[in-house]
Amino acid sequence: MSYSNSIQNLVNAFSKLPSVGERTAERYVFYLLKSGKKDAGEIALALKELLEKVKSCETCWDFADSSPCEICKDKSRDNKTICVIAEPQDIEAIEKTGEYNGTYHVLRGVIKSDDGELKNLKAKELLKRAEDAKEIILALNADLNGENTNMYLEAKLKEQNPNLKITRLARGLPMGSDLQYADEITLGSALKNRN
Ligand SMILES: [Zn+2]
Repeated sequence: MSYSNSIQNLVNAFSKLPSVGERTAERYVFYLLKSGKKDAGEIALALKELLEKVKSCETCWDFADSSPCEICKDKSRDNKTICVIAEPQDIEAIEKTGEYNGTYHVLRGVIKSDDGELKNLKAKELLKRAEDAKEIILALNADLNGENTNMYLEAKLKEQNPNLKITRLARGLPMGSDLQYADEITLGSALKNRN
């Protein structure tokens, strides 16, 4: 069985998204075809805007409409305290706790056990920023890869500056859970009680 080229192209494109298999991709494409031009047009427009407007903040590596982003620009925030997270969505999770007034560094992933991933991570950029920081909070997910990455970064940061204060989120976050799914109170207290 084969679909027309245009259909197959979009099925292939959707299949690349996380957690979307071929079947789901097909469902999406036929949903869009059946729903007429409106939904597809909205998605096309949103994607176009995303490509045109969103860039990387060259300080913290979050995605934003401007570089530096709103948080990095904000003079009321403590830019000597840097919280390292794996993904941009983690910023939202920490901001919601209302317990943090420092800045962030988005690593853009973690070191995978099969490694080789490090080159795509913003680790070098973190080391550079850490030169004039007073505290680095390592807040990567509490799973094996997150823990390995925390240990790697901690060693590198200490090697660069043995006097730098390096902290971690307090225990209490469920092992293996994503920061993004932690509830605000748990995450807020893990942040407040960091050590
Ligand atoms: Zn930024």
